[in-house]
Amino acid sequence: MRRFALAGLALSCVAPLAAQSPAPTPAAPTTVIRAGTLIDGVSASPRRDQAIVIRGNLIESVGDWSAAKVLPGATVIDLSGRTVLPGLIDCHTHVFLQGEVPAEGGYDAELLKQGLALRAARATVAARRALDQGFTTIRDVETEGAGYGNVGIKEAIERGYIPGPRMFVATRAISTTGGYPLEGYAPELDMPKGAQLIDGPVEARKAAREQLSNGADWIKVYMTHRSWVGEHGELVSQPTLTVEELKPIVDEAHGWGRKVACHAYSGIGLHRALDGGCDSIEHGLDLDDAAVAQMVKQGTWYCPTMAVYYLEWAPAGTVEGERDRKRAEVHGPSLRRAVKAGVKIVFGTDVGGFPWSEPIAQEFPRMVEFGMTPMAALQAATSRAAEMLGMAGKLGVVAPGAYADVVAVRGDPLQDVKAMEAVTFVMKGGAVYRGTDR
Ligand SMILES: [Zn+2]
Repeated sequence: MRRFALAGLALSCVAPLAAQSPAPTPAAPTTVIRAGTLIDGVSASPRRDQAIVIRGNLIESVGDWSAAKVLPGATVIDLSGRTVLPGLIDCHTHVFLQGEVPAEGGYDAELLKQGLALRAARATVAARRALDQGFTTIRDVETEGAGYGNVGIKEAIERGYIPGPRMFVATRAISTTGGYPLEGYAPELDMPKGAQLIDGPVEARKAAREQLSNGADWIKVYMTHRSWVGEHGELVSQPTLTVEELKPIVDEAHGWGRKVACHAYSGIGLHRALDGGCDSIEHGLDLDDAAVAQMVKQGTWYCPTMAVYYLEWAPAGTVEGERDRKRAEVHGPSLRRAVKAGVKIVFGTDVGGFPWSEPIAQEFPRMVEFGMTPMAALQAATSRAAEMLGMAGKLGVVAPGAYADVVAVRGDPLQDVKAMEAVTFVMKGGAVYRGTDR
């Protein structure tokens, strides 16, 4: 276990002046992080040589290190050679997927050949990998046939049985008949499905109620399914739910104070997602101008998940291979249009769709490549994501009153955002999960 490993950290007893008020409570130990550079998740510019005072699981104050004053009993963590940021947030993960390659059976094998205990065991490793990489919060957008498994993983983390990020979970997800795998088997066979399939507004509302009552923080809906290259060279995607089916889901979720994430690539299904009142568009491979305008108007979040569409292309010259290339080709311009129009963008990766051992932060350079500034990309993974999750001021920011979720990286991500792959320190809720020089 790497938890609470503090070996190698410089320990002393100082705290800034700001820590003197209010009077320290003896029960909550104080930790002070000395940040060489602080990117706080909200401010437009970084600040140098900052002191972050942490009491218990919360940040108490942030101020210039030069104003710091020795206070007995405080622990100092010296990150003066690092860039310090809020704990990162990945808004599109699948802890119950492990990026199985087609040669090993791919997606189907995960559902057909891996029992739930095995899948849950692997999900605990996935959760640990997220934390290892500095992602202290994830929105896990469905379990792919593992039922309410991510509710259990979330609970195991919250109760301290396993290390892992804070989790906001969409559980089983919802699609329609013909709208989700497993597919391609003999029609006589009753195959398991990776999502809860519904037809009609009554079934839609019932599925939403079931999922919400079993612990879903979000409802995930697949508004498009298959995709291919159309006769004019455009990306075409098959729509799934109608607006009449989506609306009761959104209505039900909003009534519970929850939100709806819609997987939607392009075209009819994308527009139905927006007309039906989705809170976030996932992937949005080909947002046309009308969709972008509607997202701005409705305040819809965009979680583009760029990097995953550059991985594992089928061979060129095949139907799948051409589709895979087309998806990547239209995705970049789609993000550019959204950035230019001021759509609210969050960081998400679809990790699990690719192995958890690969860098989650590979998404940052893609966001920058297609029009976001490094600071905007970092805020998409911090304060913007927190805002979408209804946690503004609590997560995704290094400021008084926020949870003490803090990470550090080598180098300057504002110069080269690839630096986000070099996380050296991870604190979640005031507890050091990963020390400085590992
Ligand atoms: Zn996904």
